Amino acid sequence: MEFRYYMPVRIVCGRDCVKKGAEEFAAFGKKCLIVTGKSSAGNGALADVQAALARNGQEWTVFDRIPPNPTVESVREGGRLARECGAEFIVAIGGGSPMDAAKAIAMLARQDAGEDIFSYKSGADVLPMVHIPTTAGTGSEVTPYAILTNDEKETKTSISNPAFFPKTAFLDGKYMRGLGQETTAYTAIDAMSHAMEGMLSVRAGELTDALAKESLRILRGELPALTKGEYTDEDRDALLYAAALAGMVIANTGTCAVHSMGYSLTYFHGAPHGRANGLLLPEFFAVCEEKLPGRAKEILGAAGFASHEELAAALAPLLGEREKIGEGLLRGYAHKASVNKNIKNCRVFFGEEDLFRVFSRSVGE
Ligand code: NAP
Ligand code: ZN
Repeated sequence: MEFRYYMPVRIVCGRDCVKKGAEEFAAFGKKCLIVTGKSSAGNGALADVQAALARNGQEWTVFDRIPPNPTVESVREGGRLARECGAEFIVAIGGGSPMDAAKAIAMLARQDAGEDIFSYKSGADVLPMVHIPTTAGTGSEVTPYAILTNDEKETKTSISNPAFFPKTAFLDGKYMRGLGQETTAYTAIDAMSHAMEGMLSVRAGELTDALAKESLRILRGELPALTKGEYTDEDRDALLYAAALAGMVIANTGTCAVHSMGYSLTYFHGAPHGRANGLLLPEFFAVCEEKLPGRAKEILGAAGFASHEELAAALAPLLGEREKIGEGLLRGYAHKASVNKNIKNCRVFFGEEDLFRVFSRSVGE
């Protein structure tokens, strides 16, 4: 057995863990910048963080202008604010968008990334971060990735830096009680995609496989709730845990072609990240079944499916009506995906024709 595995995030999980674990914030300094979107003010997460900071006698400034699929402008604005208010640490509250943005802001608070943030080699001098996910999907709370919209290249680009691992992640499913069906379903599909793509990565090993299989087992158990759109607190907690496990997988393995292809569906057609992955995942596995049948069967089996057709049937009710995109555009997206670094990360080689096939069978006109 031979593998490498790294996970430096302290995970604190349980009901009211933010309030109960207030002392976790204390070590990071007197002043923090809270990076979030709009929903944390209504789901209790922001209030819990503010109560914990107040109990420690810490001060905070709230920056709540992070849009979905965070832009470079929004993180530059956050970086400036962090400097102005003298933030010594960052607390990120939200889905993948605020959590990713917080990582870039934590870097920009300490480093001048120059004109092009995507080609800048960010160093280790990054403000310490505490992450609190309020969606159950991206696993950003346990990954070293910040994914930002890259308008110059018309895609989304991942910036990776070991210093982007938060110091602490708080997991409490109660913040998701009011999360709508679409976001709940799409983010769960994102977690499934992370676990399945992680197992196909050239960097997959025994430990990441164990985490991925456990994540897929839990997600499989949540499929009835996801299909019905009705969730108990236990369902919310289980989805959040499964997403964190899948995040711990991709933190070490990275993702594969599904993610590189999905970025075009998000950038050009506005498909939410998890939805984009879900549209493509079954046909991606159809190619894997042909080229690497044993491993494809093992991964599909871990998720509770005998074939890519069964996976497609399970995801169909969660995805609803599909986007229909013309061949010319899909050929362009296939080319774009073919030059993404994720392609080389997969045990199955996806050439441009394979990528086009997945696109056209998934979202072709
Ligand atoms: P998101 O863009 O963070 O959030 C989607 C929507 O849900 C937003 O409108 C958000 O509103 C709302 N929302 C969040 N939590 C809520 C709650 N508890 N109740 C009600 N509404 C809530 O979506 P996401 O799928 O979690 O994150 C997607 C992003 O993560 C993409 O940019 C993707 O590329 C990235 N990603 C990162 C990684 C990684 O490893 N770092 C992995 C996968 C994906 P507000 O934001 O206004 O609150
Ligand atoms: Zn993802």
